[in-house]
Amino acid sequence: MEHILKLEQVKKYYGGAAGNITKAVDGISMEVNKGEFTAIMGASGSGKTTLLNCISTIDTVTAGHITVNHQDITKIKEKDFASFRRKNLGFIFQDFNLLDTLTIEENISLSLIINKANPSSIEQRVHAIADKLGIRDILSKFPYCGYFPYELSGGQKQRCACARALINEPNLILADEPTGALDSRSSRLLLETMSDINRKMHTTILMVTHDPFSASFCERILFLKDGKLFNEIFKGEKSRKEFFNEILDILTLLGGELGNVR
Ligand code: ADP
Ligand code: MG
Repeated sequence: MEHILKLEQVKKYYGGAAGNITKAVDGISMEVNKGEFTAIMGASGSGKTTLLNCISTIDTVTAGHITVNHQDITKIKEKDFASFRRKNLGFIFQDFNLLDTLTIEENISLSLIINKANPSSIEQRVHAIADKLGIRDILSKFPYCGYFPYELSGGQKQRCACARALINEPNLILADEPTGALDSRSSRLLLETMSDINRKMHTTILMVTHDPFSASFCERILFLKDGKLFNEIFKGEKSRKEFFNEILDILTLLGGELGNVR
């Protein structure tokens, strides 16, 4: 199986000068294969966001190597980060990160425009992806408009963020708590959409979540504890409900702090 992402003994330590070091990520090795839908779970402070930030070159590692599509990203020069991200990665954040002064269509097209794609192909691609995600009829709206702040629902905005992440057909989609700001109905819709995209377009997705329901849509889950890998489980032939119960069992093992897991 071909891997899209490979981590070798990745460490990210913060602080040091004053003596107290935080080992946010402490020696993680893992691979994500092409087409996998993987979740990373763990309690608050276990290093999930730090790990994702190192993979996305938002943060640099203290030690170890990360390869994305066989390129060692710990060797990329800072001036080349933005172009690496545009070519290889798609992002979905908890708070959508859509630009309020651009229409939904412009938000989705932005990376293609920056990559200097041909204008007629841009429109075609945006419409195709909007149809897939069921947001064709809101393309001309703005994410936020002073007078009508609720014109688009959280769920609609997050599907727009999905379209924006997918438009470049990136090697890897990184999602940090994508359902964190959604109600349960919109969460389910988004997760069904993400798993649909994963199956039909073979998009590789790595999602950080504290929510067992969200994680149960993935094929594989990695659990972090204190910056280290604690456990790994696979959905296999299990139903989503069975997998959900297995996740709850592991979270209990992890410390039983379900209420605090975030
Ligand atoms: P999670 O996303 O799992 O909640 P984080 O990756 O945000 O965890 O944080 C892991 C640990 O690293 C925590 O102890 C946090 O306080 C620390 N940390 C994260 N970012 C920084 C930073 N920029 N400077 C110092 N410590 C940080
Ligand atoms: Mg986090």
